[in-house]
Amino acid sequence: MILDFFSKHKLSRNYDGRCGNCHTPFDSTDDEFCRYCGTKRGEGKFLPYENFQGCVYGPPPVKRTHTCDNCGYSWDTRRMIDRSGYCPRCGGTISTVKSDHE
Ligand SMILES: [Zn+2]
Ligand SMILES: [Zn+2]
Repeated sequence: MILDFFSKHKLSRNYDGRCGNCHTPFDSTDDEFCRYCGTKRGEGKFLPYENFQGCVYGPPPVKRTHTCDNCGYSWDTRRMIDRSGYCPRCGGTISTVKSDHE
């Protein structure tokens, strides 16, 4: 039972290519800032985190277009849940436009 618990709640300290604060993987090696919490690459608390795969079932992902208010960098995502709030290039705040249809 204890083994079962640990296999389901695997804690990881692997921060390769991940945000040191919220452990979200960076989408691109060009990203200098976490787009979810605005933490600079290589900074953060680097706490152990629960390494699990998100649910793969559900409605199709929603397309969102994010544009940086500061430098104008723009990118699209297709995810069910996307809490992007910061520009990965400069760490500035972003505007998000959601479109259910392409
Ligand atoms: Zn982060
Ligand atoms: Zn920017």
